[in-house]
Amino acid sequence: MFDKILIANRGEIACRVIDTCRRLGVATVAVYSDADRDARHVQMADQAVHLGGPAPADSYLRGDAIIAAAQATGAQAIHPGYGFLSENPDFVDAVAAAGLVFIGPSAAAIRAMGLKDAAKALMETAGVPVVPGYHGADQDPDHLARMADQIGYPVLIKAVAGGGGKGMRRVDDPATFRDALDSARSEAQGAFGNPAVLIEKYILQPRHIEVQVFGDGTRAVHLYERDCSLQRRHQKVIEEAPAPGMTPDMREAMGGAAVRAAEAIGYSGAGTIEFIVDGANGLRPDGFWFMEMNTRLQVEHPVTEAITGIDLVEWQLRVASGEPLPRQQHDIAITGHAFEARLYAEDVPAGFLPATGRLSHLRFPDGARIETGVRPGDAISPWYDPMIAKVVTHAPTRAIALRALEQALVDTEVAGSVTNLDFLIALARHPGFRRGEVDTGLIARDLPALLDGGAADPAALVLAVIGLSGLADPDTRGGATLWQPLRRTIAWEGGQALLEVTGPGAAASRWTARMRSAGNRTAGGWTASRAATASWFIPQASASLAGGSCT
Ligand code: ADP
Ligand code: ADP
Ligand code: MG
Repeated sequence: MFDKILIANRGEIACRVIDTCRRLGVATVAVYSDADRDARHVQMADQAVHLGGPAPADSYLRGDAIIAAAQATGAQAIHPGYGFLSENPDFVDAVAAAGLVFIGPSAAAIRAMGLKDAAKALMETAGVPVVPGYHGADQDPDHLARMADQIGYPVLIKAVAGGGGKGMRRVDDPATFRDALDSARSEAQGAFGNPAVLIEKYILQPRHIEVQVFGDGTRAVHLYERDCSLQRRHQKVIEEAPAPGMTPDMREAMGGAAVRAAEAIGYSGAGTIEFIVDGANGLRPDGFWFMEMNTRLQVEHPVTEAITGIDLVEWQLRVASGEPLPRQQHDIAITGHAFEARLYAEDVPAGFLPATGRLSHLRFPDGARIETGVRPGDAISPWYDPMIAKVVTHAPTRAIALRALEQALVDTEVAGSVTNLDFLIALARHPGFRRGEVDTGLIARDLPALLDGGAADPAALVLAVIGLSGLADPDTRGGATLWQPLRRTIAWEGGQALLEVTGPGAAASRWTARMRSAGNRTAGGWTASRAATASWFIPQASASLAGGSCT
């Protein structure tokens, strides 16, 4: 095992890698940009090296500076996290040339999977089913249009260098093919500097099911599947493991195909084979096709860790330091069910627009695994991914794990930026999702209803009033004695309630409010005769509301 490693990343993934290093007694070196001087990952690491300006090109993408930092601090290996340099084969070569270990696959394996067209051709040879379509070299628009006719509409145009859902266009009708092709190409040129595309059959009612693999460079095992069908704009929102409705036959077929894919490229370390699945008639062993391989640790890896009890980062470190695969296939089993929700600073009604802000309040519940790179008071800056945290739950059954997710989200408090929290709660309550009826179109189809969910909760409104009234401010609380409940009658549009506020006194910022209605009215769907408890807080500058909940 290594004595010391450098983590070439930031945010929650850097913190998550440091957690495992600590447990294994491996010293850690963080790197940081100007925007991250006081970031959580910098504070957690044993040492930290400054890289440069906030733009990724001036910091987290500076391979040379990162390698120099590893050498200067005596780190033996570099963990790339995800994003940034994690799938950059030139960086992998440079790390090796500097006499350091890259904690991940070989540069050759990354290159083999780097372009979707070459990867699909390779997978066909390895006997892995690929989505029917055209992934040849001829990029002549007329030729591509003929191929689309042959495949049959609807088709999906995809940038061969694509990622993050960019450079993709669904086309339903030959008449719109040329316009879609032009826009996919220009987006691909802008984002990846490569305008080449491939054409695929568009799978109706598609499900995204991926298989976690782990290789030692020759042999590979799989750690079962994750269902990532809850997506917005081709980006994952809630993931789960195992996949609802999975049959033993299909699981074996998908696991086998994923292992063949990994072994075909001599894969080493953690990787994910993404499959698109036809969900129209239930899951069938002949109804899944290779989409792409992500040659790195995946954002949603915690759900796999939860159901297998395996720490994937520990495996990454052990295998990269020369140990054999810690377990064989028959020693890897599924226990229970897990969910992960991605909490983002983003404006959902505005079209999932990334947001920024200083998190004046941030509190997570016990009872869920929380992966986060920020603390209360930290800023979500415009420079990086606006993820605030991943909320992960694990339970014996899918129904219990989903309830646990819903509860954990309800009990999460964040203020200082708009977030997708209400949207995530609405998703966790979605009847179809509850029944396990997922497909990649669910969010787009039901968006209006999902946006409705977070509408003003009367308890929350009242709490906002208390906050704004300064009632809880220790200087203005007036007559309240330290331990006696404070009573106030608060009226709001459509109702009135008696509020009993209790708190530990002094300058406490967290209080519990119990609310009982004066009459027996119903306000906004909430029966006011029921008691409600809600958590709330008073941020330093302007009083605002974190969240409320009815019990
Ligand atoms: P996944 O299937 O794991 O969601 P993506 O390819 O969409 O994979 O990207 C994974 C994550 O990596 C994203 O959520 C994002 O946070 C991060 N990421 C990807 N590219 C970059 C980048 N260039 N800079 C920073 N983070 C990135
Ligand atoms: P990226 O590199 O951007 O992640 P992928 O090839 O993994 O691109 O596709 C991203 C998402 O697009 C998938 O998760 C799925 O929702 C959708 N998708 C991809 N291929 C198809 C297809 N052939 N038919 C229907 N949906 C697809
Ligand atoms: Mg993908």
